[in-house]
Amino acid sequence: MSRVEMHIPHSMEELLALLGRMGERPYRYIAGGTDVLLELRRKPEADQVLINLYKVSGWGFREISHEGRSWWIGAGVTIGQLAADTGIAANFPVLHQAALHLASPQIRNLATVGGNACTASPSGDVACALVALDAVAVAIDAQGKRRRMRHDAFYLGPRKTALRSDECLLGFELEAADPSLKIVRSQYAKVGTRMSMECSVVSLASHLLADEKGCLRSCGVAIGAVAPTIRRTDDACRMLEGKIMGGISEQDVLAFADAVAACASPISDLRASAWYRDRVLRNLATDMISTH
Ligand SMILES: Cc1cc2nc3c(=O)[nH]c(=O)nc-3n(C[C@H](O)[C@H](O)[C@H](O)COP(=O)(O)OP(=O)(O)OC[C@H]3O[C@@H](n4cnc5c(N)ncnc54)[C@H](O)[C@@H]3O)c2cc1C
Repeated sequence: MSRVEMHIPHSMEELLALLGRMGERPYRYIAGGTDVLLELRRKPEADQVLINLYKVSGWGFREISHEGRSWWIGAGVTIGQLAADTGIAANFPVLHQAALHLASPQIRNLATVGGNACTASPSGDVACALVALDAVAVAIDAQGKRRRMRHDAFYLGPRKTALRSDECLLGFELEAADPSLKIVRSQYAKVGTRMSMECSVVSLASHLLADEKGCLRSCGVAIGAVAPTIRRTDDACRMLEGKIMGGISEQDVLAFADAVAACASPISDLRASAWYRDRVLRNLATDMISTH
């Protein structure tokens, strides 16, 4: 019979002390449990050691805060909390929309930002918006030492992150727009096989900033469910810089959509064919800059 050993630290200090004692013993974290519990039910393991993060507080783990333009979102923040935060909605509309696109209110009340990121699914909604915003993942180890990783260092493959066995994701750092720039588009577009309770077949998160003349100066675009990991489309975005939103020629729009598609490597699976994913991605990229 399989045995589950559950640890429930009540503070960040207790969690770090526990990590120090775990040594080489394998364990899994459980935050909201909306991914990990399904996974364990599908593939039960003989003996399982779980560290439940539900009661961990302190060190900003459950907080959304900011100092000037520097924002912090703790890994233990729930998707519901993120969706309800007015500062997030005003400064990062793409993240607000991604939170509202994730599952149902019941799931959002349990599911956490850290769980969405650490599951490392190519179709993670909040994770995709965080990549578009160039958020930096901050891990903490048993000694309390922090390690910062951009998305390309953090996501190693499907369901695989760079977190070491003695680390926990503490949260994300992100920058709000420079006051000399304004947000001209910040949007999360998600296409699934049905409208609700569905992971995306293709998603595109965009956060575009322009100067006072309306010229695009900073463009963050991430694509989901079209590659083994969520990807940023920086090469395609460079084509937009200096252009005026709403005044981009048809030829440039098509060239941009081609460049976004070149950042993807879609596969065919139960939910959609690679051909369909490629078409939808091009349409989302085209819509992103041609309708305003
Ligand atoms: C019905 C249903 C619908 C869903 N719909 C969507 C959807 O539309 N979009 C979407 O993106 N997802 C969806 N999901 C997936 C899931 O809800 C999200 O990925 C959620 O954000 C996971 O968060 P959690 O706190 O529940 O993670 P958990 O299940 O607790 O953990 C997920 C993984 O992250 C690890 N982990 C959690 N926290 C940390 C941490 N701080 N440090 C290190 N590792 C950590 C765990 O060990 C585990 O491997 C759905 C799930 C269900 C059941």
